[in-house]
Amino acid sequence: MKAVDASRGYDVVIIGGGPAGATAANDLAALGHSVLLLDRAGRIKPCGGAIPPRAIKDFLIPDHLLVAKARSARMISPADRKVDIPIENGYVGMVDREQFDEWLRERAANSGAVRCTGTFERIEYTDDGVPVVHFRNRTDDGATALRKDFRSEGIAATVRARCVIGADGARSAVAQQCVPGAEKTEYVFAYHEILRAPAVRPAGYDDTRCDVYYRGELSPDFYGWVFPHGNTLSVGTGSADKGFSLRGATGALRQAAGLQALEVIRREGAPLPMKPLPRWDDGRAVVLAGDAAGVVAPASGEGIYYALYGGRLAAEAAHAYLETGDARALATARKKFMKAHGKVFWVLGIMQRFWYSSDKRRESFVKICMDKDVQQLTFESYMNKELARKKPMAHVRIFFKDMAHLLGLAKA
Ligand SMILES: Cc1cc2nc3c(=O)[nH]c(=O)nc-3n(C[C@H](O)[C@H](O)[C@H](O)COP(=O)(O)OP(=O)(O)OC[C@H]3O[C@@H](n4cnc5c(N)ncnc54)[C@H](O)[C@@H]3O)c2cc1C
Repeated sequence: MKAVDASRGYDVVIIGGGPAGATAANDLAALGHSVLLLDRAGRIKPCGGAIPPRAIKDFLIPDHLLVAKARSARMISPADRKVDIPIENGYVGMVDREQFDEWLRERAANSGAVRCTGTFERIEYTDDGVPVVHFRNRTDDGATALRKDFRSEGIAATVRARCVIGADGARSAVAQQCVPGAEKTEYVFAYHEILRAPAVRPAGYDDTRCDVYYRGELSPDFYGWVFPHGNTLSVGTGSADKGFSLRGATGALRQAAGLQALEVIRREGAPLPMKPLPRWDDGRAVVLAGDAAGVVAPASGEGIYYALYGGRLAAEAAHAYLETGDARALATARKKFMKAHGKVFWVLGIMQRFWYSSDKRRESFVKICMDKDVQQLTFESYMNKELARKKPMAHVRIFFKDMAHLLGLAKA
């Protein structure tokens, strides 16, 4: 591992080594920039770990990181109607975030990025406009000589950068300090339990299927899930309602899925920011990526692909800024992201608000998912991250079916 040389400064300091930060670090180091990747480490990101084939393909994720491959999804309604959707011509990859994130960070290091374990504190600009990142260094990886008595909280260190990428996840300190509007982010809080998969599979559990529960008792505004992870399972739920007991609902979900007897390995939760921030840069030298920029998809809660992609776009924007010195280049990260995915986020936001608002609507939603056209369009969009355009008549049929349900003309 390369040693941190805080005295010389770096082209780019990246704060946060999750999918967004590690991807930005890899891309920028591969372009020949000097990169410092600062991550506080010590906690596995709570996550269901489902990634679509587009993520695997575009970000060259090796097969050995996929701890399971889901070949179908089951939607379960309030009245226990079950709709199985086969995933044709592919699978959804399931990753374990402990290994996945570390592999991404090591890939960045192999491309030339310098890794540093520490906690970001603040950014201050010098009088001549150079950003200086202040952080607490937690290991003796070179930024400062570590003294034993400082080990618990770390020692203060600074590093100069030409550009800073804030990829420090939901409730990003970089976003809150540097980017106006970041304080207005909307969150769903997600909680899950990691269970040990038993040698004998419980009745109804299929380790190649993702189960999604749409039930008010399990979430008043989101959904509950059972995701296979090889030797473990992720069972959880989410809600924006702070008074709702996610832990209680997860217990009810385990009961409903027949998984109540399984051993719990970890219980953990984290916020999901489901609205892209109105700005991702400070107009000077800082740009955001991933959860820090608010890009988890509404309705699905999918954030890994968007973090990987956002990290790549932040790297492109930082590269353009370093090449030209024009800080307007930083704004291209958000522009490109919204052009590619803004419409989908908007539609998913409407879907979540409408279909997840009562059990009557959830029942209709699961019923709509019985339709083969709906299944195909939904999954193609999820898998390939492009709105399927091959079957225009299917869109028309779905539109009229949706309208019938919206107007209450169709029987639930
Ligand atoms: C319960 C749950 C289930 C989920 N399931 C899925 C799923 O199945 N599929 C999916 O696609 N998405 C899922 N998500 C969303 C997904 O986990 C996130 O969208 C994704 O991790 C965002 O990546 P990121 O790199 O932007 O941020 P993160 O993965 O949060 O990474 C941020 C990094 O920044 C570091 N950091 C934070 N603060 C500091 C600091 N002050 N100093 C230094 N470093 C810092 C952290 O250590 C971390 O490594 C789920 C989320 C939750 C909470």
